[in-house]
Amino acid sequence: MRASDNAARYATIHKDPASFAVPPNLADYAGVRAAFNWESARAGLSGLPQGRGLNIAYEAVDRHAYGPRADRVALRWIGKTGERRDYSYRELVLATNRLANALQSTGVKSGDNVFVLLGRVPELYVAILGALKMKCVVTPLFSAFGPEPIATRMEIGDARVLVTTETLYRRKLEALRGSLPKLHCVILVDADQDGEGTRSWRKLMQAASDAFEMPPTDPQETALLHFTSGTTGRPKGVVHVHEAVVTHYVTGLYALDLHDDDRFWCTADPGWVTGTSYGVIAPLTHGVTNIVVEAEFDAPTWYGVLAQERVTVWYTAPTAIRMMMKLGADALKDYDLSALRFAASVGEPLNAEAVVWGAEAFGLPFHDNWWQTETGGIMIANFASMDIKPGSMGRPLPGIEAGIVRRKADGGVETVNTDQEGELALKSGWPSMMRGYLHEEARYRKCFAGEWYLTGDLARCDDDGYFWFVGRADDVIKSSGHLIGPFEVESALMEHPAVAEVAVIGKPDPIAGEIVKAFVALKLGFPADEAMRKELLGHARKRLGAAVAPKEIELRANLPKTRSGKIMRRLLKARELGLPEGDLSTLESDER
Ligand code: AMP
Repeated sequence: MRASDNAARYATIHKDPASFAVPPNLADYAGVRAAFNWESARAGLSGLPQGRGLNIAYEAVDRHAYGPRADRVALRWIGKTGERRDYSYRELVLATNRLANALQSTGVKSGDNVFVLLGRVPELYVAILGALKMKCVVTPLFSAFGPEPIATRMEIGDARVLVTTETLYRRKLEALRGSLPKLHCVILVDADQDGEGTRSWRKLMQAASDAFEMPPTDPQETALLHFTSGTTGRPKGVVHVHEAVVTHYVTGLYALDLHDDDRFWCTADPGWVTGTSYGVIAPLTHGVTNIVVEAEFDAPTWYGVLAQERVTVWYTAPTAIRMMMKLGADALKDYDLSALRFAASVGEPLNAEAVVWGAEAFGLPFHDNWWQTETGGIMIANFASMDIKPGSMGRPLPGIEAGIVRRKADGGVETVNTDQEGELALKSGWPSMMRGYLHEEARYRKCFAGEWYLTGDLARCDDDGYFWFVGRADDVIKSSGHLIGPFEVESALMEHPAVAEVAVIGKPDPIAGEIVKAFVALKLGFPADEAMRKELLGHARKRLGAAVAPKEIELRANLPKTRSGKIMRRLLKARELGLPEGDLSTLESDER
């Protein structure tokens, strides 16, 4: 269901200023917006000493470590078996200094690309921040990816270093290492000794000094390379610079309403952009305590974390919220959630029911917000002080101009009227805007029309300036909040010797939003039976990993194609959903 369809059934949730536990940072939306400019916003950060620039790691760690917050818990790590480890800002500065020195000792230079493939363990955070210190370009990868998505991204990103574990390396990368000639160093966080072509993290860290002077950092230097997917082609490497930290800081302040003594928990994995921007950078730039939970979703574990850690601000995602809704609010009654002050959600449409359910179950509604890998930070949000219209993504951040546009025949765009659907667009110029798709200038240019950056999402804006998500303008799939490119899944299935043709769609799912479904036509002579279907499911899972592989495969004699031979994913999707099939004038072959 479209997020906007059921919105009218839910009344606006009014905020009563008298009920705020602490005054929201953005109490006067219109006033702050009118006065806002990014130049002044930067004053909330420190900058490198002696005007030597701006570095994300310095803002996240060093400036607190050498000030009054030095002994505050920066990271509280809660392991899968319940063990807890705390890192103060002082400890984090020493660990990240060591890592920066350790990287240098391996011959790695500023500007080299460091990939990190780890679960949510403390080394992940040290690796990201330590590599940023020495101005490496950092890419955290999702550890549930299979060998193919990992190798593709490392190849596109010119990976020089990989930080991972022994098991992940042996299982997912060792066999493919020959295809990555630029890969200079593999660091294994759990290895006691160096191996053939691998280095031991422990040994490198022991040998490294914990004093490190950060090099001058131009705010426009590349800091992060995140990957995202399009309808066609390989994944896109989205380039972000150190200046992005200004957006992380400002959105932490206004959209997540972070206050000095907060205990903040972002449930996203840093292998996805939310987990880096908000699971690492934004909370640390505010000097709050950042809770890191290694385990995947499991309601009792999560409720236990919220209660025991006295989490004050919680940033989570619709799929998890829907799973909690399924269990019912009763499952929460034994947990003390009185510390929770603000709850936000991102990544996929948040149904109006889920917003309202939050109020019933947690005593506060979920505040939906919107952004994407390319924007680097939150762009549209329901703010703590603002009335919520359940089902709406909220209003643009101070400093962000959002509009709904329609593309014109001449390549330009025009804005549409209130309440009309069109493409969500943002006026370029905020600090965390992507600076390019790596090695793909033409693909990058196509995202812009004059001053507008075109997001690829369809939306509408109402009379009060609230934005409502309508759908994607392209064929990418959002499953459990993860963006999946159909082409990447199709390519992996095409590698199977029995497969002649394949088309992949997102099939609506009440919990995950969408699941990946593949339609496959087999080559002559291969049996279209249950054993083959299972084999293909297994093949895709092995290559792509559980997060990306299709959950459903349907074997077909043939797939619908246009006269020019393009498979019509949209037609397959319309039929799957029982929707009108639309214009079929270009349909060539269609044997069902
Ligand atoms: P990613 O780049 O992986 O973060 O995915 C970004 C995409 O997720 C957006 O372009 C939207 O299609 C979707 N998305 C993110 N947040 C929301 C939201 N609050 N409501 C609806 N869709 C969202």
